[in-house]
Amino acid sequence: MTDWQGKHVTVAGLGVSGVPAAKVLSGLGAKVTVVDDGDDERARTQAEELEALGVAVRLGDGDTLPDGTELIVTAPGWRPDKPLFLAAGRAGVPVWGDVELAWRLRGRGGRQAAPWLAVTGTNGKTTTVRMLASILEAAGLRTAAVGNIGVSLLDAVLGGEQYDVLAVELSSYQLHWAPSVRAHSAAVLNLAPDHLDWHGSMEAYAADKGRIYEGNRVACVYNAADKATEDLVREADVVEGCRAIGFTLGTPAPSQLGVVDDILVDRAFVENRHRNAQELAEISDIGAAGARSVAPHNIANALAAAALARAYGVPAAAVRDGLRVFTPDSHRIAHVADVDGVAYVDDSKATNTHAAQASLASYESIVWIAGGLAKGATFDELVAQAAKRLRGAVLIGADRALIRDALARHAPEVPVVDLDRTDTGAMLQAVQEARRLARPGDTVLLAPACASMDMFANYIKRGEAFARAVSELGA
Ligand code: ADP
Repeated sequence: MTDWQGKHVTVAGLGVSGVPAAKVLSGLGAKVTVVDDGDDERARTQAEELEALGVAVRLGDGDTLPDGTELIVTAPGWRPDKPLFLAAGRAGVPVWGDVELAWRLRGRGGRQAAPWLAVTGTNGKTTTVRMLASILEAAGLRTAAVGNIGVSLLDAVLGGEQYDVLAVELSSYQLHWAPSVRAHSAAVLNLAPDHLDWHGSMEAYAADKGRIYEGNRVACVYNAADKATEDLVREADVVEGCRAIGFTLGTPAPSQLGVVDDILVDRAFVENRHRNAQELAEISDIGAAGARSVAPHNIANALAAAALARAYGVPAAAVRDGLRVFTPDSHRIAHVADVDGVAYVDDSKATNTHAAQASLASYESIVWIAGGLAKGATFDELVAQAAKRLRGAVLIGADRALIRDALARHAPEVPVVDLDRTDTGAMLQAVQEARRLARPGDTVLLAPACASMDMFANYIKRGEAFARAVSELGA
C-alpha cells in the first residue's frame, strides 16, 4: 500500500502508538478512524486533538470494524482474538502494528532507510539494545535505541534525524503484527513461557519471536544455551549467505562468540585471517556502575549485542569502548546502596520467573524480596534452583502464597517472612525485615518474579519504593 490518498485506515487503540500512527496516516492523506474501548477523560482529550486534524474517533467500542476499512493499524498490545481482528480476518482486511507501518514507510519519499539490528527474547531485550547502541556509537555510527524501549520506530523513521543503523527492540506482540519487517541481522536472546494468554500457546509465542529472523541478510544470532532459539534460526527463511551465529558463556565454537579466561572472544567475525579468534573485551569492561560483579546474564546480553555489532562490521575496539560506557536502565540489577556491609540491589524489572532466576543466579547469599502478581506462573523450579543461595525471603503482594508454598517444598530451612500486605507501604517493612535477616556480605535482592500492578502502578514505582526504603535504613 503505497498510495495512501483516500485509503480507509482504522487505527485500533489510542495511546502511545495509536495517536502518532493516526497523525502520520492522516498526514499521508488516508481517511483515518480511530477506535478504542475506553471512553474516559484521557481518551476524550486525545480524541479531540485528533478530531481537530480531521481524524474520526469512536470511543467505547473497539470491537466493531468500521465500514469500508481497507487496513487496520493496531496498538501492539491488542490481542489477536479480539472481535475486531476476527471481523478483519473474515473481511480479508490486513492488520499491521505500528512497527510494520514504520517499516513500510521507511525509505519512501526521502525518508531515511537505516538498516535495523533487531533484538527480541523473553528477557534482556532492553539491556542488550542499550549495549548495542552504545557499541555502535563507540564505532562512530549515528544510531539510536528504538522500538519497545521508549522511542517508537515511527518517530525514528519519520523524525528528521539521520541514522546509519538502528538498534531495535521488538516485543513478541510487535513481532506478531509485523509480518514484513526484514532486519539486517537479529537476535533472539532466550525463550521462556511469558504472555501465553495473549499468544494462545508456547508454540505461537515462539513463532512470533521467530519472525525476527525472517529475511535477515547477514546474521541470525542465537543463544547456544537455549536450543529453542537455535531451532527458530533453522526454521527461518533468510537471504542466501546469512549466517547463524551463536553466543555462549563458555568457550566458543567456530561461528560463535563466547568467553575464554574472562575475555569475550569472537570466533565468527575474525578480522585477522591468520588467527581463529578475536578478543573483544574483558568481562570487567561491561559497565555496571557500583556492582561488585557482572551478572552472567549481562555477559550473555553483551555477547549478543557484540554479535550484532560485529555482523554490521564494527571493529573489536568499539565493542570494548561501547560496553565500558554502557549504563543499564534503572531497576535492572541496579545497585542501590551498601548498608552495614549488605548490598541492596533493585531488580524490580524481574517481573517473571525466568528473569528472577537469572538475577538470583548472580549472587551467592541472598535475602530475597519477592511477590506480586504471578500471571499464572509456578515457582517450584525457580525456588529449587535458588534454594542454596537464599539466606532468607520476604514475601509481599497478592500471589505471595504461591512462592511461600514453593519455599516450603524446596527450601524448608530458609527463614521466610510472609508480609500479609499489598499496600504500597509494605515495601518499607519488607526492606526492614530483609535487613534483619541479612548478614555482612549478603545481598538483599528485590527480584519479585511477579508483575507489580497489585501494589504499584508499574515496576518502576516498585523499584523506587525499594530505593526509598533502603535510603531510610541508612538514616
Ligand atoms: P526486557 O526488555 O526483555 O524486559 P530487560 O533488559 O529490561 O529485559 O531485563 C529485564 C529483567 O530480566 C532484568 O531485570 C533481569 O533480571 C532479567 N534479565 C536480563 N537479561 C537476561 C537474560 N539474558 N536472561 C535472563 N534474564 C535476564
